[in-house]
Amino acid sequence: MEINSKIKRRLALNKIKPYQPGKPIWELQSELDLDQVVKLASNENPIGPSPKAVEVLQHSLSTLNRYPDAHATRLKEVLAAQLSLSTEQFIITNGADELITLISETYLEPDDEIIVLSPSFSEYQFGANLMGANIVSIPLDNRFQINIHTILSSVTDHTKLVYVCSPNNPTGTYLSSNDLEALLLVLPEHVLLVLDAAYSHFATNADYTDGLEFVRSGHQLIVLQTFSKIYGLAGIRVGFGAAPSSIIASITSVKEPFNVNTLAQYAAAAAIEDIDHVNQSKLVNTSGRKQLYEAFSRLGLSYIESMANFVFVKIGHGAKRVYERLLEGGVIVRHGDAWEMPEYLRVSVGTQEENAKFIKQLELIKSKAEYRG
Ligand SMILES: *Cc1c(COP(=O)(O)O)cnc(C)c1O
Repeated sequence: MEINSKIKRRLALNKIKPYQPGKPIWELQSELDLDQVVKLASNENPIGPSPKAVEVLQHSLSTLNRYPDAHATRLKEVLAAQLSLSTEQFIITNGADELITLISETYLEPDDEIIVLSPSFSEYQFGANLMGANIVSIPLDNRFQINIHTILSSVTDHTKLVYVCSPNNPTGTYLSSNDLEALLLVLPEHVLLVLDAAYSHFATNADYTDGLEFVRSGHQLIVLQTFSKIYGLAGIRVGFGAAPSSIIASITSVKEPFNVNTLAQYAAAAAIEDIDHVNQSKLVNTSGRKQLYEAFSRLGLSYIESMANFVFVKIGHGAKRVYERLLEGGVIVRHGDAWEMPEYLRVSVGTQEENAKFIKQLELIKSKAEYRG
């Protein structure tokens, strides 16, 4: 018989909302008996993992009796060489998600504040809630742009972390290089800027920055990166942070020794050197974004131009129903509910065929006038 545990968990945990992942393909398949499911819900790489990474993985399986390298030495060396930083300026983590938790554990006392933009990635709030810190949420402007003056006017003596996701999930909007520099120059010394650049490789505008130039020039920020998006390795869990070495040393002190498994370390090092795969992924994404834009325009739907591998599109009051009809048609996207924006869908850019299937289903739903826009 199960007992109902009387052990009190920490009060801070009451504020934690469970993360809602995109519906997995197998789940929809088993619910609806569909064999062809298109998943455009988690911003994964539609062309698959880097073939070079897959090859390295096959060769490393026989070493799994050994513990991983606790310092991910080889991966840091590859990153340092490619990104013109030193190995002490990197921390390797079990996905960028783990890094957000580690940053929170390193810096947040119960009375501290973090600044987040809204709508944005929810894990920043998770980290703050875990530590019992306070969340100051400020809205993006009416065109979903990031306004540095709004950020600055929200900074107090208690502010520890400012999170800026650029390109921002779910809007695809970004902070320009000039704005980031201006923000870094005026942020007080007790504040660490966390620039989440998970989607940096997909950005095509010339005034975009992934922030690494500012790490190189010694500014106080940490840039977050992941192997889950452009490198196509979401399932193996690896990401990293790049920052001044003193910040890296502090965060490293709270990390578990073997946080990144051996396979992830090998795969990431191979993927980052697989320039062909990266370039191919960018091409598929840039043309896929255009394919989605054209369809949305044709259907009279407004969308936000995106620098990422997803598009945030306004459907209107019937968006939840459209989301459900798409599921029935075998297409998984993300409903805006997750960001309290119920009139929107976030659609990941897929292959040309996947995008076409999504567009076809959307047109079908629209022509049946099953929703009012
Ligand atoms: C996907 C994503 C990440 C990283 O995810 P991991 O798979 O944990 O590396 C980080 N930030 C944003 C905004 C993301 O969308």
